[in-house]
Amino acid sequence: MHHTAVFAPPSLPGVADSVLDLIGETPVVRLNRLAPAGGAQVVVKLEGRNPGGSAKDRPALALVRDAEASGALRPGAAIVESTSGNTGIGLALVGRVTGHPVVIVHGGTMSPEKLAVLRLYGAELIEADWAAGPDDPDNPRAVADRIAIERSGWRSHQYDNPANPGAHYRHTGPEIWRQTGGRITHLVAGIGTGGTISGTGRYLREVSGDQVRIVGANPTGSTYGGGLPGIVRVEGVGTTWPRSHWPQNLDTSVPHEIRTIPDDVAAATVRDLAAQEGLLVGPSSGLAVAVALEVAADLDERHVVLAIAPDSGTNYLTLLAR
Ligand code: PMP
Repeated sequence: MHHTAVFAPPSLPGVADSVLDLIGETPVVRLNRLAPAGGAQVVVKLEGRNPGGSAKDRPALALVRDAEASGALRPGAAIVESTSGNTGIGLALVGRVTGHPVVIVHGGTMSPEKLAVLRLYGAELIEADWAAGPDDPDNPRAVADRIAIERSGWRSHQYDNPANPGAHYRHTGPEIWRQTGGRITHLVAGIGTGGTISGTGRYLREVSGDQVRIVGANPTGSTYGGGLPGIVRVEGVGTTWPRSHWPQNLDTSVPHEIRTIPDDVAAATVRDLAAQEGLLVGPSSGLAVAVALEVAADLDERHVVLAIAPDSGTNYLTLLAR
């Protein structure tokens, strides 16, 4: 039989048609040792189980689909983005499958593991200067803007594009509500672009009749919790605003509170999760779980605190092995 390029094989019951169909539906697990017995349940949603290894696969797919549908991203055109890593990995993965070359501008602060993953997905990597201010031409966002124009490419604008929180509103929020049988009382999520907390948090507030409390996790050095900007060490979260861009995707009416946690507490929590719970997660997951444990300490067994763990520790082995 002659097979053309459009030949679609018959579907098989337990087989995904493409890796894109494996995005989402991530598992949730209870912490049985780190959370005190008899108190609030602390449970963790393992976004590292997405095919690209992080929560950012969800917005990456939504951003690309949305831009293809609107015509902003034409067939075969380049996807260009400035990112600390996981959005780039998500876009690189989605770009492979949908036939778009991907150019990632990074600030030189990405873990070696994430850089290797991006190279394996065939992304083109360009290094800019993370310390350059918003008006400096070497700023990663400015470099990405320039390259997008040169190559007639499309920028996903993950910090401001509503398709990012939209993916979490449509998928992450409903999954959590279903997985906890509607018994979640507190959501804890780190804030990078704000997509996760704004989309997931808005859904959970709406579906529960405003009974779920939304708590943001902010690393030392970041100004989401107020104060002055310093150095943010936890990858993927925090802001140095007003030294950097303020994300339109952070809907400040969604979180009830934002708690700031020192880097060493987030790092210690990563080690505790691995050694005591058998869960190998990344630094921003340690941050979110540290806040969840703090929140749970004041609650009783009627409460369910869910922390989002955005990625796996395998992205940071060089860092964690130190
Ligand atoms: N943790 C990691 C490791 C991330 O890559 C990101 C995405 N920047 C976040 C947390 C925060 O997610 P969001 O951008 O949706 O706020």
